[in-house]
Parts: sequence; structure tokens; C-alpha cells
Amino acid sequence: MIGVAGLPVVDHHCHLSPAGEGARAAARFRDAGGTHLFLATQNYEGTVPTDLEAYRRQFETTERLARQVREIAGVVAYVVVAPYPIDLLGAATHLGTEAALELHLRALDLAGRWVRERRAVALGEVGWPHFEVDPALAAAARTAFGHALEVAHDVGCPAVVHSPDLDAAGWEELAGAARKAGLPPHRLVKHYARTRRPAGIAPDVVPSYLARRELVDAVCDEAGPWFLETDFLDDPRRPGAVLDLATVPRRAVAAARASAGVGDRLAIPFVRSVQEVYGLTPELGGR
Ligand SMILES: [Zn+2]
Repeated sequence: MIGVAGLPVVDHHCHLSPAGEGARAAARFRDAGGTHLFLATQNYEGTVPTDLEAYRRQFETTERLARQVREIAGVVAYVVVAPYPIDLLGAATHLGTEAALELHLRALDLAGRWVRERRAVALGEVGWPHFEVDPALAAAARTAFGHALEVAHDVGCPAVVHSPDLDAAGWEELAGAARKAGLPPHRLVKHYARTRRPAGIAPDVVPSYLARRELVDAVCDEAGPWFLETDFLDDPRRPGAVLDLATVPRRAVAAARASAGVGDRLAIPFVRSVQEVYGLTPELGGR
């Protein structure tokens, strides 16, 4: 493992798919300097899961991909599992809202068991739709999110949140939801943060910033914890979306070249934030 400027290089949120590049994408990540990634589960079968067995299969696929990433690319992949919040909407059209919600809650319980058994390091993605939905479904999504935070609290792990872009009130609401569930706010990570969190707002909730150049430059002086991510989807129909998996190491190399001081700041997203939020220490030795 090479890393950048003596540091591990961590992509905090990506997806891989057996139908896409899979572990070969992780090899590109490694060749650019990447060492660790957080691999979030996704729906691999092209249909929304309508029973718990489908979620079990899905999580097992993620686990298998993580193993391949390590074996083939020599990159450490931390597994993150949960039923995708938008699944609730698709399942409701098949099962009705009530049964879909029940399935979603049980799938969150299953994800919690995976964390307890150390097969996963966090729940994710959990949250609510990033678009307008009808009130009954919106209420069900809120119930599901509340349950996700309770499970995270019970098993003692972070929750990685999928949500619309947040304004100041949205960030504060997230902090409030964590407090209500008894979850320390620094265990709550807002994934796909596309703008800098307003200064002084919900300082404990953790942003995982999309690794666009301007945003990386803008957030580099934040105290942390914060992360960088690509949200790489590994979808053959959307190659390189949201950002290509090589992006985080490329940004790290560019930042380290620009100035040694900026390079040092990268210890925040790549080491210290992982320690503070996950209790894990990424090392160049491959752990
Ligand atoms: Zn994602």
C-alpha cells in the first residue's frame, strides 16, 4: 500500500457492483494512491427487495465484493449495510405501505446484527427520499429513519445518512434526531454533502463531502471530523458517476503537491475522522 504523503487515502462512500467493474475499479483506486474505502451496499438485482431474504443476499454480495477488493486490489474495504431508503417506496407499490415499512424495519435490524457480528462497520445508507413523496410514504420514511438511529444506538455504530441537500435548519434537525435517539451526533454522517456545512451549525454532525476540487479546497481547513467521498456507483449505464473511484486519491496527490500544509490536513479525513467516528485506524500496512 502506497498512500499519499505517508498517509492512507480513504474514500468514505462508494458502491461496487458485480455487474460493473467491481474489484477492478478498486485496482484503479489503488493505482492512483487509494488504500481504504467504505463500501456501501446497494440493490444489485435491479428489482426492489420485497422480502428479508433478498436483503440478506444483497448484504452477502457486498461482503463478497469487499473480500475481492482486498484480494484482487489489496485495498481495505469497510462494509456498510442497510436497506436503501428509497427501497421503501418501491416496496410499497408491491406490498402496500404498512408491509413495506415492516420489511424495512426488519432489514434495519438485520443490518444491526451484521454490525454486531462485525461483518459491517456502520448502517448506511439510512435516511429519507431526496425528492417529494406523498405524505403517507414520507411518514413511513421518517419512522424508518428513527428506527435506523435506534439500531445504530443499540449496536454502537455510526449511521450514514442519505437525504436531500441540507440547509442550516436541516443540519440542526439531523443533530436533533441523533440526540432524540440517544446517538452521539458524531456518530451521524451526512453522506453526499455537496456544499460546505454552514459555520457553527450542528458542529458535531459529520459531513462526508463529495470530492469535487473546489469543495475539497474549501473544506480543507475544517477542524473535523469530516470525510471525502466519490459516491461511485459502478453502474455501466452511468460510467464514472457520481465521481470516478480514482478521484479521492487524485485530489489527495494534487493537495499534497500544492503545499505540504494542505497535505497534512488530509490526516483529518483519512485517519483522525475514521478513528473518531468509527473507532478504526486505517494504516498503510493494510488494516
Ligand atoms: Zn451511495
